[in-house]
Amino acid sequence: MSSHSPSHTIAIIGGGIVGSALLYTLAHRGVDAILFEAEPELGLGASGTNSGVLHTGFDSAPGQLETDLILRAARIRPAVLHALDVPVIHAGAELVPHTKEDNDTIRHLAANAAANGVEVAIRESDGALLVAGESVSDPVAFTLALAESAQAAGAAVEVNALVTGITSHTDGLTLQLADGRTFAVSAAINAAGLYADEIARLVGDDSFEIYPRKGEFFVFELPDRQTLDRIILPVPTKRTKGVLVFPTLDGKVVAGPTAVDLEDKKDWGVRPEAQDEILSKAVQQFPTLEGLTPIASYAGLRPAGRGSNYIIERSAANDRLIHVAAIRSTGLTASLGIADYVAAELLPDLGIAVDPLRPTTKVSMAPSNGPWWQRTARHHAADNS
Ligand SMILES: Cc1cc2nc3c(=O)[nH]c(=O)nc-3n(C[C@H](O)[C@H](O)[C@H](O)COP(=O)(O)OP(=O)(O)OC[C@H]3O[C@@H](n4cnc5c(N)ncnc54)[C@H](O)[C@@H]3O)c2cc1C
Repeated sequence: MSSHSPSHTIAIIGGGIVGSALLYTLAHRGVDAILFEAEPELGLGASGTNSGVLHTGFDSAPGQLETDLILRAARIRPAVLHALDVPVIHAGAELVPHTKEDNDTIRHLAANAAANGVEVAIRESDGALLVAGESVSDPVAFTLALAESAQAAGAAVEVNALVTGITSHTDGLTLQLADGRTFAVSAAINAAGLYADEIARLVGDDSFEIYPRKGEFFVFELPDRQTLDRIILPVPTKRTKGVLVFPTLDGKVVAGPTAVDLEDKKDWGVRPEAQDEILSKAVQQFPTLEGLTPIASYAGLRPAGRGSNYIIERSAANDRLIHVAAIRSTGLTASLGIADYVAAELLPDLGIAVDPLRPTTKVSMAPSNGPWWQRTARHHAADNS
């Protein structure tokens, strides 16, 4: 059964960091928007289960869309985080070389950083690469604050709102929800993370496929209230970016992630073998972890495109649906750049007027219920019990 619902200009499908940044950007640029999130709360997917690192783009390949949007976000994000009071540890990162090959990689990374306009330095004593601009945030607080600010500016958010159908009408699209409600909009943005391919299928678009790439993490409390004052990144090899060690805003230290390609989009568990895989690498980088027992673990599922990355375009099957899909590894960092790109480059082609970004006013947030790094794991554990 369907009930009649008010129409909006833009519907955003998915309330992770990408959907929330889109909602924020549209709301503050004068576009009437509504976001639909299948889960009872926002940010329970990849956006709540990552490393929380806001990357500078020092190691990103120059000229790629992903890199451009990381750099675009860097111009927008600091003011937004400040205005919304989203906490950030401006820790900086270091990559310490252990082999001659590592030294070569570091020289290569320094040149890459320069090509992207990112400041780095090489420490004389040990040849470590220092990236002062790398920081760590609370990804859940970031996601929720963006959506909260968007709502304060007039946008709408519907949770428990699984989009199950999309049909065309003369002036745009009609979205069907699992609960029978329908919403008429001028256009929709597909920010459904792991399920973005299923949203595409709703308009007959099977141009891409998303699979889960699992990343597992272990959380530690250091003895004697010690803290970690920087992000420790491994020197990457040709095969892997490796395991990082980073501080959290609540004084913990996290090591991870793994990268395990899966088929099952609902497999949020941490594999028993993950602890050894991660700890053997993490201890090399940060020996203080030797002998410590983790206090918690969590896993995230990266929405990985099969043979594709950063699919940001109008669907060839229905140009009123804009895909923002396969945002696999850097979505927390790039989200505001992605949203700005969609607003500035894609919406005007659909005849949707977009104003310049208006200044943000502070929003008051409800205190979080426990650490962000346990939120999604708890949610899925409750689902399975
Ligand atoms: C292990 C790991 C480490 C990472 N580390 C970092 C990092 O340090 N820095 C960084 O920048 N990025 C990092 N990332 C990447 C980042 O987390 C992702 O790029 C980002 O979260 C993707 O956001 P999203 O909004 O596209 O997807 P999601 O967060 O998955 O959100 C998609 C949302 O869509 C909803 N949805 C799906 N289908 C429907 C439907 N039919 N109707 C309504 N709603 C629907 C889902 O419930 C979900 O909430 C990491 C990711 C992982 C997993």
